[in-house]
Amino acid sequence: MMNSPSRKPSAEPAIGLDSFWMPFTANRQFKGRPRMLQSAEGMFYTDTEGRQVLDGTAGLWCCNAGHGRREIAEAVSRQICQMDFAPTFQMGHPLPFELAERLVDIAPPGLNRVFFTNSGSEAVDTALKIALAYHRARGEGSRRLLIGRELAYHGVGFGGISVGGIANNRRAYTTLPNVDHLPHTLDIERNAFTRGLPVDGVEQADHLERLINLHGAENIAAVIVEPLSGSAGVILPPVGYLQRLREITRRHGIVLIFDEVITGFGRVGAPFAAQRWEVVPDMLTAAKGLTNGAVPMGAVLLHSALQDALMSGPEQQIEFFHGYTYSGHPVAAAAALATLEIYRSEQLLTRAAELEEHWQTLLHSLAGLPNVVDIRNTGLVGAVHLASRENSPGSRGYEVFERCFREGLLVRCTGDIIALSPPLIIEPSHMDRIIDTLGSVIQRTP
Ligand code: PLP
Repeated sequence: MMNSPSRKPSAEPAIGLDSFWMPFTANRQFKGRPRMLQSAEGMFYTDTEGRQVLDGTAGLWCCNAGHGRREIAEAVSRQICQMDFAPTFQMGHPLPFELAERLVDIAPPGLNRVFFTNSGSEAVDTALKIALAYHRARGEGSRRLLIGRELAYHGVGFGGISVGGIANNRRAYTTLPNVDHLPHTLDIERNAFTRGLPVDGVEQADHLERLINLHGAENIAAVIVEPLSGSAGVILPPVGYLQRLREITRRHGIVLIFDEVITGFGRVGAPFAAQRWEVVPDMLTAAKGLTNGAVPMGAVLLHSALQDALMSGPEQQIEFFHGYTYSGHPVAAAAALATLEIYRSEQLLTRAAELEEHWQTLLHSLAGLPNVVDIRNTGLVGAVHLASRENSPGSRGYEVFERCFREGLLVRCTGDIIALSPPLIIEPSHMDRIIDTLGSVIQRTP
């Protein structure tokens, strides 16, 4: 599994590129010079030109157990043959019930109910709806305001972009009216090159008190944050920050949601970031690593008190008017169960904690290279923050990303930030290769 596969180059695909409108992609630029992946195994992709590409990003923060896991493929194939689809509206089948129990087994204490979705975006919108419905059911219907954070990414649903704080994801659309934002916690001046969580910045959480003063606690339904922001370029929570958000939200009866779509399933050295940083929210969202990326699936894990509040009407009444045709899809659930079994048997949910120090040392060896203004890390996450070129923000980051790919390494760029989140099966030799390639490319990218 750990060995790089050797495959013969295949012929150029004889397919047109125009019809597929690619998501979050500069379509014209990409189609002028495509990067096409064709197969994957262990830590490596192979592209359509036969190039081996070391996966420094677990796909898109998804494939925590590495690629090509037969156990998942077989579980999926068995399940499709046995039962391809079954509805979960007023009907059931055993797999999502079993999966919900397995998730509760590894969840932070008290989060013992699970609602299934198909993606992180849907999990976020579902969690926001649960928060609103919960308050209403308890006679606190004035709590309609949702608080997110600047630079946050919570997917692309209207709920997610509203509480999200990435301007480009909101600008062309419309957003929910009842929303406000906390400040982000990126502070390069004070915290550049910190190893692990930054020590300065806990007071950023106190802005929540100001928003509560402004809007009134009786009008606020929920606060949603990513324990660490991935999409904005790996922004870490200062030491004590999440605890303080927890204290304030608890004091004011506000639901606290952690969006763990990327931090879930071992990324920071524990099943969820909530456990690593010892702060239990009222709800958390998950996706990506839930099925090792093999089949789309998302979930909301929540405290039973939230569900209980909705269980007071007549028994024949639907308690929560929400759900997706594919909530608890049998094939996705089979993939997730097989994935959780791999995580358990290979102890992958805590492996990042063991590898963290070595990873950190290697990453920080890139300090001092041209244009590197910050390096951030926690668990098996890393970011190398490059200075932006005058009048051309993002161009340096894109060039580094593109050159790394041509030299056999997949990284992710967000503007001029290079983000790394390799599969949790990574070995030290892969880490060396990531750092060597990235360092050499940065050195050669003026
Ligand atoms: N929330 C967070 C924190 C994410 O990082 C992402 C995706 O990267 C999402 C939500 C959205 O997930 P999806 O793309 O599966 O809708």
